[in-house]
Amino acid sequence: MKHCVRLWKNARPIFRAFSVGMCLIRRNRRSGYPYRRVPRTWFGRWQRMLCGLMAAMLIPTSVLARDLHTAPRIDVALDVGHTLENPGVISASGTPEFVHNLALARAVRDALIAHGLRVQMIGENGQMQSLAARPKQAAGARLFVSIHHDSVQAHLLPRAREFSGFSLFVSRENPYQHSALHCASAIGAQMRAAQFLPSLYHADPILGENRPFADRDNGVHWFDRLAVARTQVLPALLFEAGVVVNPEEELRITSPQTQAVMASAIAQGIVHCLRTANDRQPRLE
Ligand SMILES: [Zn+2]
Repeated sequence: MKHCVRLWKNARPIFRAFSVGMCLIRRNRRSGYPYRRVPRTWFGRWQRMLCGLMAAMLIPTSVLARDLHTAPRIDVALDVGHTLENPGVISASGTPEFVHNLALARAVRDALIAHGLRVQMIGENGQMQSLAARPKQAAGARLFVSIHHDSVQAHLLPRAREFSGFSLFVSRENPYQHSALHCASAIGAQMRAAQFLPSLYHADPILGENRPFADRDNGVHWFDRLAVARTQVLPALLFEAGVVVNPEEELRITSPQTQAVMASAIAQGIVHCLRTANDRQPRLE
């Protein structure tokens, strides 16, 4: 029975309409009046009640049908930065960045699902080499979030202990840049509320990469050419959880407890951002 209910719930409205139609036709055929009213017998009355019940179930689904066609099936695409073959930064403990990215992305996924959001994981198997293909795979989602862990420039590695904090990046080449920035700011604000600090050094022309601030308070930078953020298909942002070439920072932010707190903050930021967007539109703008 449960299986039937699930089938019915997942069925396309057109199929539901078809099943009601078939029910009516079958009733009429049995009665010998294929396209005319059925004589008022007890048998016909029961069938009419059954068809009426099915039609009543159809009404709310036909209303829902509009949403099914306009609303995206996925709310958030979570991209696990890097691959098994090219795992990104090697941390102070010698752990490939991909391993940390995967753990955090899974924690964020669980936190988002707990909020009732639909999540799609991108690159979870560590095989996805193409950066451009990542957001494309998420087309139709409301937001694309790429999860990473940070490093510093090679000549600053001996001073790695001086660098810490989270960063967020958005691209002005993304046609949904305002939505992307809105979400990045919301995530940064929730991170700060959870006592995490923004790194800020990426805006420094000497220490970082001279990435100007899009929202200094919440640690958001413009990074226009960033491959996953400049996508044309949906609002996209990149999140750097912290500087894992700094041994103290790596120990702190990759512990399961801190990861859970961070994932919860990211999820709350995303939830806030999506709630304050226009829900009637498939995307944020
Ligand atoms: Zn990375």
